[in-house]
Amino acid sequence: MKPDIIVLGGGIIGSSVAHFLSAKGAKVLVLEQDHKAPTDQTASSSAARATGGFRVQYGTGINVKLSLLAREILLQFEDLTGVDAGYQPHGYLFLATTQPELEALKAALTVQQQAGLSVARAVTPSEIASLNPALNLDGVLGGTFCPWDGFIRPLEMRRGFAESAMRHGANFMYGVKAKLQTKGNRVQVIIPDGILEADAVVNATGAWAGTLGLEVPVTPEKRQIAQTVTTDLLPSDMPMSIYCDTGFHLRVRDQTALLLRPSPVTSSHPFDLEPDMNWLAPMLEEAHTRVPVLKNLPIQQTWAGLYENSPDKHALFGKHPEYANLFMVNGSSGHGTMHSPAFGQLMSELILEGKTTSLDMHILRPERFAQQEPIVGNSLL
Ligand SMILES: Cc1cc2nc3c(=O)[nH]c(=O)nc-3n(C[C@H](O)[C@H](O)[C@H](O)COP(=O)(O)OP(=O)(O)OC[C@H]3O[C@@H](n4cnc5c(N)ncnc54)[C@H](O)[C@@H]3O)c2cc1C
Repeated sequence: MKPDIIVLGGGIIGSSVAHFLSAKGAKVLVLEQDHKAPTDQTASSSAARATGGFRVQYGTGINVKLSLLAREILLQFEDLTGVDAGYQPHGYLFLATTQPELEALKAALTVQQQAGLSVARAVTPSEIASLNPALNLDGVLGGTFCPWDGFIRPLEMRRGFAESAMRHGANFMYGVKAKLQTKGNRVQVIIPDGILEADAVVNATGAWAGTLGLEVPVTPEKRQIAQTVTTDLLPSDMPMSIYCDTGFHLRVRDQTALLLRPSPVTSSHPFDLEPDMNWLAPMLEEAHTRVPVLKNLPIQQTWAGLYENSPDKHALFGKHPEYANLFMVNGSSGHGTMHSPAFGQLMSELILEGKTTSLDMHILRPERFAQQEPIVGNSLL
């Protein structure tokens, strides 16, 4: 069977795109370089290594709107795919320790309201103390909280999308590394067995988007997580709590605490997935000061994964400006799991129904960097 559409990358976005396209009757082939099953936590895909945070609180209208659309789909996810996405709206708490951070969080609230989110709000230190009593609030001036934010299960979502796509006839091939080559104003897909053609080819290869043979402005950034042993010291409904100054954040997952802090990359290999252990001690020092109950809690494991950063930390979405059958959904810059439901739906609209999508995605067009029109946002969110 010759596919109508080839999706490169069977991660969470590729699987979502395959679900929405095949549910509308398209013949879809997904090529995934990894041999591992979609639910394997040791797979290299970023979705396998993600924390599973979901938020609508962002500093730009387009990201707020993508999250609102994703939330609508998450609320029907089990009906759509047969799998529970695990959406738990326990909230995100952003914490400011300086006046400029507080102002930036408040400015983001205005952007969020304009984009249609009305339930996010500013919170005082005493409200923060009741939302998350485990935090040391020394130096915290205030923050913001949104009760629609919370958590999702990335691997379950990936499984739901992929299984549903297969039920609708999509074919997934694992262990197949794809490349792209151009022929006139179109692209062809090269795999070890030969050359494939399709009406549409979707690049959904996450952090590897720029390695297929065509330039894509996406660079990998290593992100690391430390997971404590199981504990009942933190409640299972604790909101994600993020300090704006260092980016340190924590959440509770399966009765463990997941601890994160962005850190400079020391590996010379951009796709290296080994955690850099020099990062751990200073991160834990901050964790113990800011969340004192963590002090005597051993770390059971650490792991690393890759963010897929674009120059303005917003996704690239749309038709390639030069190649008529190439579509891009890349560069989500660490937000791709939560936005995957929206991207799948919108990509199916773009490919099958023509130029317009139900959410205006012009601002995310891939050619915006060449046109010197990057998105200017709020650097905190
Ligand atoms: C530590 C960490 C925490 C994160 N936390 C969150 C979070 O809380 N919330 C959130 O929304 N996001 C989070 N993210 C980001 C999120 O994981 C990514 O944005 C998301 O996975 C991107 O989806 P994707 O499908 O584009 O990429 P991936 O999930 O990485 O999938 C891309 C797939 O393409 C395949 N591939 C690559 N090259 C080829 C090729 N040449 N041929 C065939 N297949 C190929 C890869 O093997 C991979 O399976 C986190 C990421 C990390 C690393």
